Amino acid sequence: MVGTLDALLFDTRHQLCDNRRMTQPFIPFTKPTIDEATISAVTDVLRSGWITSGPKVLDFEKALGEYFGGATVRCFANGTATMKIALQVAGIGPDDEVITSPISWVATSNVILAVGAKPIFVDIDPQTRNIDLNKVAQAINQHTKAIMPVYLAGLPIDIDALYALATQHGLRVIEDAAQALGSSWNGARIGQRGKHDLVSFSFQANKNLTTIEGGCLVFNAERFGADQVQLAEKLRLQGLVRSGPDGMEVDVLGGKDNLTDVNAVIGLHQLKQLDQFQQRRIELAKDYFLKIDQAGLVHKDLGLPVADFEQSNWHMFQVILPLARLQRSRGDIMSALKEHGIGTGAHYPIITNFDLYRKLGYSPESTPIAAEIGRSILTLPLFPTMSSHDIDRVVQALTQVLN
Ligand SMILES: *Cc1c(COP(=O)(O)O)cnc(C)c1O
Repeated sequence: MVGTLDALLFDTRHQLCDNRRMTQPFIPFTKPTIDEATISAVTDVLRSGWITSGPKVLDFEKALGEYFGGATVRCFANGTATMKIALQVAGIGPDDEVITSPISWVATSNVILAVGAKPIFVDIDPQTRNIDLNKVAQAINQHTKAIMPVYLAGLPIDIDALYALATQHGLRVIEDAAQALGSSWNGARIGQRGKHDLVSFSFQANKNLTTIEGGCLVFNAERFGADQVQLAEKLRLQGLVRSGPDGMEVDVLGGKDNLTDVNAVIGLHQLKQLDQFQQRRIELAKDYFLKIDQAGLVHKDLGLPVADFEQSNWHMFQVILPLARLQRSRGDIMSALKEHGIGTGAHYPIITNFDLYRKLGYSPESTPIAAEIGRSILTLPLFPTMSSHDIDRVVQALTQVLN
C-alpha cells in the first residue's frame, strides 16, 4: 500500500511525464488560482516576524463575517477540524445520532465518529445528489441530535425545508458547506447571518476559495449564544482561556486547530476574487451544457447536474456515467480520459462501502440511490483559468470514450 501523499506525488510526476509526450497540455480536474498579489502578501507575512495565528487571521475572520452579512465567523486549520468543533459546540457526543449523506468526502462522517456519535446515512435525491429531506424525517428518533447535510458540488439544499424539519424535531443543524462558499438559497448566501445554525466551510486547495488548508465556522450567535463562539475558540487551542494567576487557564480538552497568518492572508486575497472566480465557473458550466448537448451525449444517457446558474457556486461539474450500457467501470473510463490528457475525479465513492464503515455494520445497500451514484459519478475539469477550448477538449474526449 502506498500512502496518500506518495500516491499524490506519483500522480503529479506521472502527469508531468505525460505532458512531455502529449501535444496538448494535461487538463487537471481542478487547479487553484493564485495571483502575484497573493504571493507577495504571503512573502510579507513570512518577513513580518509573526507567522502563526495573529492579525491576518483576525482580519480574515472579520472579512468573512462581512461577507456573510455581519455573522460571527471563526477560522480553523482545516474543514475537518471546523466540522468536529462544530459538533462539539452543538453538544454532540456518545449515544447521539447525526443524520448525514453517504455521498460526501469521508471527513463528514469521520468527525461524527470522532466525537463518539453515530452517523445515520440517509439516501440522496438522484437529481440533486444531496440528502433527500423527505427521507431524513423518517430517520429521526429519540437518539437523533443533529442533521449534517452536505452541499455536493456546491448545489444548495432546500434551507427552508431543512430548518422547518430541524425546528419541528428540536435538532441542531451542522451544515457541511465545505464546497458551498458563494452558493445561495432563495436570495441569501449559504452562511448568511441569521439564516442558519452552524455552517462549516473548507478552504482546502481544491475549494472555490483556498488558503491551502483551512476552514471557517459561521455561528448564529444571536440564536444560540456567544458561549458557543468562546467554546470553539478554546477547542481550537488546547482548551486555553486567558485568565487565572498565570494569565492562562485550561478547562476543556481542546486540540491544535488554529489557522496561521500565512494561510489567512491567502484567504483575504482569494475572498476579493471569489465573485469573479464564481462568474467564470458559471460561464464554463454553461459551456459544458451547450457542448455536451451538441455532442449528443445527453441522448446517450449521460446524467447531467441540476442546471442551477442562480444559486450554485459550481464547485464541481459532475456527470453520471451510463456504466450498465458501457459495460465498463468508472476507473476504466477515467484512465481512458487520462490518455486523452483529461483529468477527472470520483467524488465520491459511497462512504458505507469503506472497510471501516463496513466493520461498523454499515453497508451501501441501505441507500440504493447513493450506492449507484457513488459508482457512476464523475467529476469533469472545472476551474476559473480553464478556457472554452479546454471544455471542447473535455467534451470531445468524453464523446470518444463513451461511444
Ligand atoms: C473538503 C471537504 C471537507 C473537508 O475539508 P478539509 O479542509 O479537507 O478538512 C469536508 N466535506 C466536504 C464535502 C469537502 O468537500
